[in-house]
Amino acid sequence: MRFWRDVSGEITVSPLPTSLVDVAVVGAGFTGLTTALLLARTGRRVAVVEARHVGAGASGATTAKTSLLQNTRLTDLADQHSPEVAAQYLAANRHGLEWLTEFCTAHDVPAERTPAVTFATTDDGADAVRREYELARELGLDVELDEHPGEEFATHAALRLPEMLQLDPADLLVALCRALTEAGGTITDHTRVTGIDGTTLRTDAGDLRAGQVVLATASPILDTGRVTMSLSPERSYLGAYEVTGPLPEGMYISAESPTISVRAAAGRLLVGGQGHPTGQETRTQERLAALDAWAEHHFPGARRTHGWSAQDYHPVGGVPVVEKLSDGVVFAGGYSKWGMAAAPAAAHMLVDLLDGREPETFGDTTLSGTAGTTATTLAKAAGHAAAHLARAVTGGDTRGPDDSSTLDEGDAATGRAGARPVGEAVVDGKTCRVSLLCTHMGGPLAWNEAEQSWDCPLHGSRFTPEGRVIEGPAVKDLPQLPKDE
Ligand SMILES: Cc1cc2nc3c(=O)[nH]c(=O)nc-3n(C[C@H](O)[C@H](O)[C@H](O)COP(=O)(O)OP(=O)(O)OC[C@H]3O[C@@H](n4cnc5c(N)ncnc54)[C@H](O)[C@@H]3O)c2cc1C
Repeated sequence: MRFWRDVSGEITVSPLPTSLVDVAVVGAGFTGLTTALLLARTGRRVAVVEARHVGAGASGATTAKTSLLQNTRLTDLADQHSPEVAAQYLAANRHGLEWLTEFCTAHDVPAERTPAVTFATTDDGADAVRREYELARELGLDVELDEHPGEEFATHAALRLPEMLQLDPADLLVALCRALTEAGGTITDHTRVTGIDGTTLRTDAGDLRAGQVVLATASPILDTGRVTMSLSPERSYLGAYEVTGPLPEGMYISAESPTISVRAAAGRLLVGGQGHPTGQETRTQERLAALDAWAEHHFPGARRTHGWSAQDYHPVGGVPVVEKLSDGVVFAGGYSKWGMAAAPAAAHMLVDLLDGREPETFGDTTLSGTAGTTATTLAKAAGHAAAHLARAVTGGDTRGPDDSSTLDEGDAATGRAGARPVGEAVVDGKTCRVSLLCTHMGGPLAWNEAEQSWDCPLHGSRFTPEGRVIEGPAVKDLPQLPKDE
């Protein structure tokens, strides 16, 4: 269940346009809606096409901490690349934050000014916080270092950046949709893009002809090349808790792994974290249970009222990806769970790309030799996939599908039919049997017990127990298999 509300009833949706549009934007998250709005405001005819509903991806499930202090990201980028790349990343995010702040003011989106805090609970974490402090000051951020923070869960040093923003992402999604439709744009939901021919989109509601295309789909659907390969999907968990004591003031994130992210929203405590690569963890309920344990430890008596998970993509190059994929087709994503400021920044870059201008950048990483890192990460992902595949093919993962008569509600089993990996799951009393090879690039799917889905470890495509695509770069459903196959 989600904490933030579903905004479908609060916005205007239209059927898929039948005549040529100037720009088709695929995906109604923050990237797609902001890009569409910027384009529509220049007088262009813009159509947004969304596979599920507005905010169905990370944008409707985010913690929505909008901050320039992002954990220890500046030192991470300086270590991976150079302080110059960290400075470029910060400048781009600053522009994104400024645009978002102005938008919220102009459109009455409630956004609270509050400090962002990176806190440590170990000596190593405190060292990391101090390094971030030094670099952030050098790059012009007004951060304050607190060696004795005093909060119960922030036992060691804490770094504070005042006057950042926290908001309800549903409010922002509604405001973006309304501004877009006022500017003449359209939004078509529950329509999945399944193919592209030049700049004509094939969808399950017919073709959409466009002069240009923006893929704002978190992972670049319809691409099986370098950009897809350079993005790793990571799921994270969030719990909303009723607590008896005072709620924390500010937006907190730990310097150490596993990450703990904390803020207050709508009178509840939000606790997030326990991230892991998508499709590489079956016992996902335990991740939520770990958040419950953290909440109970630091806020005794905390009672979870909502729990959910979502995924964002982490670029192996460290900085978000904004790229032209082919003539007239552009993509942006890979915000590493920091898309609140980065998505509006990326939207401006996408418009520049479409208009043939040199866009601002999240960091010129071409000089810092990320090829080695990319190769290592890709090799690691391939290794995981091979191990999953081997388990799936030998039927060693869980019980074989032949045992499905013994499956309880919500249980799943994997095995094989001949050489083909097969999965069975029992949902709402119904046994569903599907091929377990992802329709995107053949990755071997793993069961996600918290979300009751089959998830791909390669690029994060996810499918319902019946095999329907939920999210990720796949556009085709899994083949359903009869019991005797
Ligand atoms: C648990 C979690 C917590 C986070 N917390 C924070 C935070 O505190 N601060 C912060 O800055 N960032 C945070 N983030 C990151 C931030 O929420 C994301 O970076 C941002 O929302 C990404 O927006 P997007 O529009 O690019 O992608 P999404 O919101 O994922 O939107 C992509 C859309 O494309 C649609 N789509 C995909 N395929 C198709 C298709 N074939 N046809 C049509 N439509 C399609 C999807 O349905 C989806 O609606 C968090 C992310 C997660 C997962």
